[in-house]
Amino acid sequence: MSYFRATDPFPLESADHTRLHEFYARLAAGRLATTRCAGCRRLAWPPRAFCGACGSDQFDWVDLSGEGTIHAFTVQEAGLPTGFEGPRVFVIVKIDGLRVFSILVGVEPATVAIGQAVRVSPLRVADDPNGNARWLPAFRPA
Ligand SMILES: [Zn+2]
Repeated sequence: MSYFRATDPFPLESADHTRLHEFYARLAAGRLATTRCAGCRRLAWPPRAFCGACGSDQFDWVDLSGEGTIHAFTVQEAGLPTGFEGPRVFVIVKIDGLRVFSILVGVEPATVAIGQAVRVSPLRVADDPNGNARWLPAFRPA
């Protein structure tokens, strides 16, 4: 079977494809991480290999606390791409001063509330074309 990048909804996470591979490696280990600019020390979200504030391309990896609160959310019940189960809860989580757009899993959508405590719960998705596991950030109720 051939691989068609245009129909793959997930990022190519391996070190061959992204300088931000470390983000996915830490996610596979259950940790949500981001970059801190080595020049101006600004914490970025999403992780960046290049600082938009000072122009540096040097950065360090920083693990976030893994626990946050729901700042906003919405529930998608229709129109999900093939292969995605619904309803799907999208959230903006406040975590370590950042606002992280992600999905909420393991929850009944009607019970979700602003201010609710959540914790990082990485979600394994389809393997990449070389058979490597892939992960996306997700949260579940704390
Ligand atoms: Zn910077």
